[in-house]
Amino acid sequence: MKIAVLIKQVPDSTEITVDKNTGTLVRDGVPSIMNPDDLAGLEAALALKDKDDSIDITVVSMGPPQAAGMLQEAIARGADHAVLLTDRRLGGADTCATSRTLAAALNKIGYDFIIAGRQAIDGDTAQVGPQTAERLGLPQVTYVDEILELTPEYAKVKKSLEDEEQVVKVKLPAVITTLSGMNKPRYMNCIDIVDSFNNPVQIMTYDDIKDDLPQDLIGLAGSPTKVHRTFTKNVSAATEKFDLPADETADRIVEALKEKQLIKK
Ligand SMILES: Cc1cc2nc3c(=O)[nH]c(=O)nc-3n(C[C@H](O)[C@H](O)[C@H](O)COP(=O)(O)OP(=O)(O)OC[C@H]3O[C@@H](n4cnc5c(N)ncnc54)[C@H](O)[C@@H]3O)c2cc1C
Repeated sequence: MKIAVLIKQVPDSTEITVDKNTGTLVRDGVPSIMNPDDLAGLEAALALKDKDDSIDITVVSMGPPQAAGMLQEAIARGADHAVLLTDRRLGGADTCATSRTLAAALNKIGYDFIIAGRQAIDGDTAQVGPQTAERLGLPQVTYVDEILELTPEYAKVKKSLEDEEQVVKVKLPAVITTLSGMNKPRYMNCIDIVDSFNNPVQIMTYDDIKDDLPQDLIGLAGSPTKVHRTFTKNVSAATEKFDLPADETADRIVEALKEKQLIKK
């Protein structure tokens, strides 16, 4: 059974600030991490491999050359292979071009089951997993927070919705998208980190997939999305100021909380 896990390298959002003048994200000097939903997807695949050693896990990323470090980390965690699609011609891709390119690469790599994260914490669109499934003509289950069963014929997964959970059985090959809260990623140990360097990340370029994908469908040329404007949203809420003695202020606050049903009447 071949599992492919799609992983995006993202800036660590806890370290990002916003430039007050331009409203853009300040990314300089911000460390990069494995996208949290993808790390959970990798952990879910590794947990399946713990139970069935015949499972073969390939992690796949498209991005700049420095994403190789993140993929090396995935090997140290237990992935069998890592493939980085990197090429200047692929740069500037929106989700449309990214999913096309990933789908072409996945067809070369091979798969029975594909795991993507639900959403990248930087681009934030949640489109790449579902679009990749569409391009490969595969069924998909999004928002998965538990893989209950995986057989060569089907996967049984639990899907989390806002106010309900669904158990879905999907025929393989299929794509699922995973949520970061679904598990606790394992730690890497020193020996596995050192050993991982005996299993280097494989590099793929556009030349490896160009027979299936014309150049006008990749990178910036293949990206119809145009960002019209980015701005920081002003967060404001109605406020009420009490200029009363302390005990009266406390009573007013309690009343206000009751009115909003935040505490019981
Ligand atoms: C040379 C080069 C430079 C790039 N530079 C940037 C950049 O500066 N900023 C940027 O945001 N993107 C960059 N990309 C990647 C590409 O443009 C984005 O991955 C894509 O637009 C993803 O959109 P999103 O963040 O909304 O993903 P979402 O749709 O929110 O992602 C959902 C899930 O899809 C999968 N996924 C998404 N993107 C990738 C990927 N690239 N590889 C593997 N799996 C993925 C992950 O599992 C992710 O959790 C670059 C690509 C190349 C080749």
